[in-house]
Amino acid sequence: MKITMAHGSGGRATGELIEQIFAKNFNNEVLDKMEDSAVVAGNKKIAVTTDSFVVDPIEFPGGDIGRLCVCGTVNDLLMRGAKPQYLTCGFILQEGADTEVIRRIVESMAETAREAGVQIVAGDTKVVEGNGGMYINTAGVGFVEEDVEISAQQCTPGDVVIISGNMGDHHATILGCRMGIENTIKSDNAPLNEMVNALLTNKIKVHTLRDITRGGLATVLKELAQTSKCTIRLKEDSIPVSPQVRDFCGLLGLEPYYMGNEGKMVAIVAKEDAAKALELIRSSRYGQDAAIIGEVTDEEAGELWMETAIGGIRSLEILQGEGLPRIC
Ligand code: MG
Repeated sequence: MKITMAHGSGGRATGELIEQIFAKNFNNEVLDKMEDSAVVAGNKKIAVTTDSFVVDPIEFPGGDIGRLCVCGTVNDLLMRGAKPQYLTCGFILQEGADTEVIRRIVESMAETAREAGVQIVAGDTKVVEGNGGMYINTAGVGFVEEDVEISAQQCTPGDVVIISGNMGDHHATILGCRMGIENTIKSDNAPLNEMVNALLTNKIKVHTLRDITRGGLATVLKELAQTSKCTIRLKEDSIPVSPQVRDFCGLLGLEPYYMGNEGKMVAIVAKEDAAKALELIRSSRYGQDAAIIGEVTDEEAGELWMETAIGGIRSLEILQGEGLPRIC
């Protein structure tokens, strides 16, 4: 069945769509009440985030917009040391969208929410004119323990920079789809609960966490160096990239450290805890390719330096221009 403007009318067609696809997959005791707002248990300190997902295509190797929106929201909560609890989602469907595709996306979203341990407690659906596309907006709430203080301002000279895996998989996947380049690359979209929990429960001195999304590793680290008023030094040949993505980048003249990811994070940790932190990330789900890639120094405020594979030093800046639109 195709979505029509009637599905956004608030009447019978809307009710059927909600009942047959959304409520059926997202069911939990809070959502099932179908109240005007969800009333849920709270915590003294909470983390709150919101994000919109406009990825094109909406289904891609390794994932889809449903998995992506849960991962993106959950990961932003995790990056402040929060335990993700609740999500809301707003669907904006274009006229002509296929209900079978919507069903697959919603099932994927529900499955990813279960994996990430969050409840979808509120939602909304609107229909607009268009060509069968779909956008999703999410909000997320997580609980933060009293003694947890993880922020972009806390990179400290002497700290070690760890990334949780290979760079560029998601970006290369979407670009491959859009350009019709045949390859075996899959998106890395994944919720990072397990590795963050491992760091927190083992009392690793984590100063900063960031998910490495749009703009890539270089943009994220440059922003952290600016916010924390320090220098970050990287070694290019220590940055993990899969052979397939390396070839893909070589073909198109792209640099892996400017490529977006959807299941990777950078952890900036105290030097004495770095080896233990690396081991914890590597032994957690989605962290097997984690690597130490650099260090924080007190040389200059806001600088990102990379020792290149051929022995030079290069200053890296925030990604300039558009990059690839609609990767998330
Ligand atoms: Mg983020």
